[in-house]
Amino acid sequence: METATEKRPAGTRTQKRSRSGAHTPCPHCGKQLRGAKGLDAHIAQAHGEAK
Ligand SMILES: [Zn+2]
Repeated sequence: METATEKRPAGTRTQKRSRSGAHTPCPHCGKQLRGAKGLDAHIAQAHGEAK
């Protein structure tokens, strides 16, 4: 006899929210940066907005 196996539909992945180290979208242009540091550097360089 087969054990009861839960059938999961393929492609059903729960997208994890951005955690530390994950990609962070730039609030200005929406570019994906790596982490707050990358975002900060990107904003300063691309948008000239020193924090
Ligand atoms: Zn940007």
